[in-house]
Amino acid sequence: MTYSTGSDFVKLVTAISEQINANKDQLNKLDAALGDGDHGTGISGGFSAAADQAQKIDNPTPADVLKTTAMALMNTMGGSSGALYGTFFLKASVVAKDKTEIDAQGWVSMCQAGLDGVMQRGKAERGGKTMVDALAPAVDALSQSVSSGASLPDAIKQAALAADSGAKSTTDMMPQFGRAKFTGDRAIGHQDAGATSIALMFRALCSM
Ligand code: ADP
Ligand code: MG
Repeated sequence: MTYSTGSDFVKLVTAISEQINANKDQLNKLDAALGDGDHGTGISGGFSAAADQAQKIDNPTPADVLKTTAMALMNTMGGSSGALYGTFFLKASVVAKDKTEIDAQGWVSMCQAGLDGVMQRGKAERGGKTMVDALAPAVDALSQSVSSGASLPDAIKQAALAADSGAKSTTDMMPQFGRAKFTGDRAIGHQDAGATSIALMFRALCSM
C-alpha cells in the first residue's frame, strides 16, 4: 500500500480500538502505579466511540475520520490524555484537509503536526515520562524511514518499533508532568501508561 484513503482510516481507527481494548486492564494497572488508574478505561471508551462514529460516515475522507476521532476522544475520554490524544488527531486532520489519499510524506506531515500539537498543549518535553516519550521517537522514525525511501508499511513498522522502545524507556524516567509528577521516586521502575497506549496505537497501524 502506498497511500491511505478515508475508508483505510476507518479500518485503522477500528484496529486501534481493538488493540487498546485488548490491553485495557494493563493500561489501568500502569496508570494505577503513577496516577489514578483510569487510563485504560478512558482510552478504550474513547476509541470505541471514535470507531463507532467513524464507521457511520458516508464516503469519508481521511480528514473526516481524523476529525471525528478527535472529537470522540475529547468528548468521551476526559482527563488530561483525552485532550492530548484529541489534539493529536485534530492537528492531523488539518494537514489531511481536502486530500482524498494520504501518501507516506503526508503521513509524516500529519504525525509531525500531531506531535507538535501535543507538545504545545501539554508542555511536556522528551524525557518527562509521558506519551511524548513514545510519540516523538515514533514520528522521528517515520520521518527518517520515509526520507530514506522506505515504503509506507515499512515506515509505519519502524515507527511502531520506536514507539515501543520509547515506551519502555519511560520505566527509568522521573515523572515531570501530569499526575505522575507527584509520585516522585516511587515512579522509577514503572512504565508510563500514556506512552504505552501510544505504542499500542502504532502497533495497530501495522495492520495496514
Ligand atoms: P489523567 O492523568 O487525567 O488521569 P489519563 O490517565 O488518561 O489521564 O492519562 C495519563 C497519561 O497522560 C500519562 O500516562 C501521560 O502519558 C499522559 N500525560 C499526562 N500529562 C501530560 C502532559 N502534560 N503532556 C503529555 N502527556 C501527558
Ligand atoms: Mg489517569
